[in-house]
Amino acid sequence: MIRFETVSKQYPGGTTAVDRLRLEAPSGQITVLVGPSGCGKTTTLRMVNRMIEPTSGSIWLDDQDTARLDEAALRRGIGYVIQHAGLFPHRTVVDNVGTVPRLLGWDRRKTEKRSMELLERVGLDLAFAKRYPSQLSGGQQQRVGVARALAADPPIMLMDEPFSAVDPIVREQLQDEFLRLQADLDKTILFVTHDIDEAIKLGDQVAVLRVGGVLAQVADPAYLLAHPADDFVADFVGRDRGYRALGFHEAPPLPLSPEPTIGLGATPAEARAASLDGWLLVVDEDRHPLGWVEPDRLSAPIDRQTLHRGGTVAAAGGPLRNVLDAALSSPARRGVLVNASGVFVGTVRAHQVLTAIEQTRRPEAGTAERQPEDAR
Ligand code: ADP
Repeated sequence: MIRFETVSKQYPGGTTAVDRLRLEAPSGQITVLVGPSGCGKTTTLRMVNRMIEPTSGSIWLDDQDTARLDEAALRRGIGYVIQHAGLFPHRTVVDNVGTVPRLLGWDRRKTEKRSMELLERVGLDLAFAKRYPSQLSGGQQQRVGVARALAADPPIMLMDEPFSAVDPIVREQLQDEFLRLQADLDKTILFVTHDIDEAIKLGDQVAVLRVGGVLAQVADPAYLLAHPADDFVADFVGRDRGYRALGFHEAPPLPLSPEPTIGLGATPAEARAASLDGWLLVVDEDRHPLGWVEPDRLSAPIDRQTLHRGGTVAAAGGPLRNVLDAALSSPARRGVLVNASGVFVGTVRAHQVLTAIEQTRRPEAGTAERQPEDAR
């Protein structure tokens, strides 16, 4: 556990970067610090490994006051990942990962074995191990950065915008893999981002800071979206927070409608005969949905090029947000639902999803949700 006890930081010149922060990052969980640029996130993070010293207050790792620990030893026990990875350009990938183990005096064999294991674990092809950082893409460099931080198996990880410099698709992949890794590793993680979507996706707990280094609210993501503590937090979590909060609710059993389907290679006449209303769902041999077609517009047998790609597919029983999105995005206005194996199970309309949402909300009214830990 990392505990901030009334921690403040004033920089020379008078800027208060962090103002009397009281916060606990529980062991084995991801605590995300989020807020606009300049609100003191990086300063907060760097005070944990004493790259920056607090002006007042203290920071504890379990029962140890960090101010009393030897700085170098403290840092070796904390993994640190930054934007652009911060790799040593003249060391190979595998040598970068082995940095801390070597400082700890591990022999060459053990260090290399551990480094290769970790590169595999973070999803980097081992063919890259002997290359130099500049020969890797941004996303690959970030993976190496994460592997390096994990090398000596520190219980604590500090991560400062680790995924911000890569494109959105790679960022999503890195986030998903990071969550899978953490599910195995159970590190105590303090993670900084300015992106509320990233905070909500990754955080077990999200701490929202405002400029001036004041903690505005700390809560789990679902609570934060449903009960922002003030106007600042409400603005920061965004206008579509009601919709995004649906991501935390699993869909109850929905009234699924059967839907005629057709396979690739069917003729326009066959498709017209099967269609209900101008749209027809195409599935593969295993009944995995492929896309919709408009039979009246077909001039040749159905192939993959003719498919309308607009609609999303959701898991029946998955998050309500995905189910509603499937209904809203479907050109046929019927959302396509699949089971855990990806097999088509039926369609649902948006109004049916909304009815289900109303029903899931009703029992909650009046019952206490998880308590917030609002600041002060
Ligand atoms: P964030 O990570 O949220 O963008 P920072 O912790 O980097 O915020 O900065 C918080 C505030 O402290 C900002 O106003 C910033 O300009 C100021 N600041 C950061 N580092 C220094 C420094 N070394 N000297 C003076 N002011 C600083």
